Amino acid sequence: MPSTTTTERTTTAWLAALEQRIERRDPGEPEFHQAVREVLETLAPVFDARPELREARVMERIAEPERQILFRVVWQDDQGRTQVNRGFRVEFNSALGPYKGGLRFHPSVNLGIVKFLGFEQIFKNALTGLGIGGGKGGSDFDPRGRSDAEVMRFCQAFMTELHRHLGENTDVPAGDIGVGGREIGYLFGQYRRITNRWEAGVLTGKGIGWGGSQTRTEATGYGNVLFTSEMLKVRGEDLEGQRVTVSGSGNVAIYTAEKAQALGAHVLTVSDSGGYVIDEKGLDLELLKQIKEVERGRVSDYAERRGGSARYITGGSVWDVPSDVALPSATQNELTEADALNLVRGGVKAVSEGANMPTTPEAVRVLQAAGVAFGPGKAANAGGVATSALEMSQNAARTSWPFERVEEELAGVMRRIHDTAYETAERYGRSGDYVAGANLAGFERVADAMLAQGLI
Ligand code: GLU
Repeated sequence: MPSTTTTERTTTAWLAALEQRIERRDPGEPEFHQAVREVLETLAPVFDARPELREARVMERIAEPERQILFRVVWQDDQGRTQVNRGFRVEFNSALGPYKGGLRFHPSVNLGIVKFLGFEQIFKNALTGLGIGGGKGGSDFDPRGRSDAEVMRFCQAFMTELHRHLGENTDVPAGDIGVGGREIGYLFGQYRRITNRWEAGVLTGKGIGWGGSQTRTEATGYGNVLFTSEMLKVRGEDLEGQRVTVSGSGNVAIYTAEKAQALGAHVLTVSDSGGYVIDEKGLDLELLKQIKEVERGRVSDYAERRGGSARYITGGSVWDVPSDVALPSATQNELTEADALNLVRGGVKAVSEGANMPTTPEAVRVLQAAGVAFGPGKAANAGGVATSALEMSQNAARTSWPFERVEEELAGVMRRIHDTAYETAERYGRSGDYVAGANLAGFERVADAMLAQGLI
């Protein structure tokens, strides 16, 4: 397909105007605008091929959440002082299934952040091929330095409002940054207490033994590594013996490192907001898990206790470390244009997003122009939410599958997501562009469902 036909130019201009309207309508939401722009930039071919989607204004509809809930969360800290936070849940799109997406507890959370995450979630969830719509929520509550009792009281206060908007067939939250097994437990307990229902499918990421799925904890990281392997396979390579850098040190980063090591890679780094660790011998994951999951400590503690092979570095960035494969697994916009140039100079072959939107648009352009295989989070980190959907299936059937079964299903889902993104990019003349492939495939699935369901 020639890339600059008259229709395509018109479509591009129309998409740019649409983007401007969306930006004017919701000022002060830069992350949301970034996420929308990144999708709109890749959709021209589908609007050219299918003008009915433009006429039905499907993209305008998708960019507008079906419902947005903002609420006050009041709770008491350990000193008996009153604390006030803000709660969010953006129910973005339910064309394919109940709203599905995590809750993020972090002081940076605001409506624009929740909307960027929710918007991405629509396409990500569509790509899994499973029956889940898109949503996201959270709070500006900062769990760092808070006691278990404070976290529990916060979660209870948060759920006291949120419960009326949830349901296993309506809206199903899970974890994200700052929300792990402990928080899901407190949230589930309060939901159950208020509603008097054992409704396991209302939250995912639950504990094994009370409705949780095997492999859910590992799924996002494992999934990203499986996706990376698929990208490498297309190039006739695998992870064996590759130098891998990982950013972050939460759930996604830890299980990314674990799977990469299992596939024979040499995993060198982890990081947090204070700095990063480079461990030339390869990470000791048992030690890292003890420090992060049990003690809720910092990566500087890891460097201290690991001894000789590990150095803790403040200032600079984990992307200063040359590697074959880079797996950003911390947070949005953590890998900049300068970082991408560094990685390319260091000979990187693949970059794949474990976090949501960790690579800035300028950095993505640098990587793609240099011929680096780039896996966008929407596709590459979809293993987490896909396994949440498997948890919902198990809950609905009141059963639980063994670890190996869930892991096998996850591997199948990641392969399908890779192939769908790859083949869709090919079909639309964007060969090797996983960003375009993921956006086009996710968009088409949601758009078709919306068209079939009338004016919704
Ligand atoms: N927060 C994760 C994501 O970004 C998981 C969401 C879920 O399991 O619902 O996809």
